[in-house]
Amino acid sequence: GRKQDGWNAHQYHANTEFYANFGRYRVTINVPKTHTVAATGKMVSSPSVKGDQKQYIFEAEAVHDFAWAADSTFVERQALFKSAIQPEMRIQLYLQPEHEYLVNRYFEAAEATMDRLSSWFVPYPYPNLTIVCPKAGAMGAGGMEYPTLITSWDASIHNLETIRTVLVHEIVHQYFYGLVASNEFEEAWLDEGFTSYIEDKIMADAFEYQPAPAVEAASVFVPEPLVLEGWKYSSSYAYQSNVYVRGKLVLHEIERLIGWQKIQVALREYVRRFMYRHPTTTDWQTTLEDVTGQSWRSFFDAYIYSDFMQDYSIEAVATEATETGWTSRVELAGPVEERKLVLQVTFDDGSKRDLSWNPATDNKVTFEHDSPVRSLQLDPVPYKVILDHVRANNNYQVRSSNWLASWLSHLLQLFSQLLGW
Ligand SMILES: [Zn+2]
Repeated sequence: GRKQDGWNAHQYHANTEFYANFGRYRVTINVPKTHTVAATGKMVSSPSVKGDQKQYIFEAEAVHDFAWAADSTFVERQALFKSAIQPEMRIQLYLQPEHEYLVNRYFEAAEATMDRLSSWFVPYPYPNLTIVCPKAGAMGAGGMEYPTLITSWDASIHNLETIRTVLVHEIVHQYFYGLVASNEFEEAWLDEGFTSYIEDKIMADAFEYQPAPAVEAASVFVPEPLVLEGWKYSSSYAYQSNVYVRGKLVLHEIERLIGWQKIQVALREYVRRFMYRHPTTTDWQTTLEDVTGQSWRSFFDAYIYSDFMQDYSIEAVATEATETGWTSRVELAGPVEERKLVLQVTFDDGSKRDLSWNPATDNKVTFEHDSPVRSLQLDPVPYKVILDHVRANNNYQVRSSNWLASWLSHLLQLFSQLLGW
């Protein structure tokens, strides 16, 4: 983003979204009278009809974009929402007839999301939130955020979890994009990564959906820096998997290090400091450092300004016979970080033993045993390492009782790589 007044006018790329200044809008829209218009901001008065034309006037304060949709088949619904923290606001639905039966589900998702956003961060400062469902097959317009207006998944889908996830995601953007208007061209992770992370938190808290960040890491085949202009990613896949997935995993990792309460306080402070402004990654780092009282420089350098992941692996196993059994030495590799990782050993007799490994102090684990080792697994399920994107090298097959077991274990390793999308 710019530090002083001036243009930040990048060419539009398919990978990138938008960035603009806050302003006040008053927009007049004329449509055929058969059509209903949904738009950013508030309708000033009821639309006026002249002949076969209808005229709408909308006003919006302190927003940085204006979006509108017109359709002759909209099903309109409204509900008021408020909580102990959130002053009364209006939630407006403009759905397609195919989704009329889901009206309560839409309101439920919107209210659950607004409830948490207002209490975790700050109350939503606008009088209304408009949700537009595009026509079946018009997903090109779906799943998109604009100030005070979002679009949901198109009307062709009936899977409740998908509909809900997209609604929650786009509504979270009212904070990370809408209020806190970071530069979507230059640092897209600040809106997409943050939004995807808070989406996970809301889906877990409100809808008992359990996110699996460590499993999703397996979908990041091409790690690239998070602070990078959108069009500089090596592919559209690299843009998506870094900006959305790796971005949110980095926030999950910060949560693992300091706890949900601390990261929530840091995010709230970030929203308070930068609402109606245009913060950068540096502003987020400074806020996090102020709230936690510690430096995050090496963390940001590794995971945010560079493409670092946490690929822990079993490198080699050496076993020697002793008088009573065997001694095995397992060589391990990965980032030198203070943490307690589990190395799970499965013996030929079927028994298992969990050994502890701290990568900060050693690169091997030695143990004695009286049954031969069948296999080893570093950081077994439930995974503790969030940013390990290569899970196959966490498994080590020493010997297998038959070819089928060995083949199945290979297949499992392959699947662990493919999971996540
Ligand atoms: Zn998004």
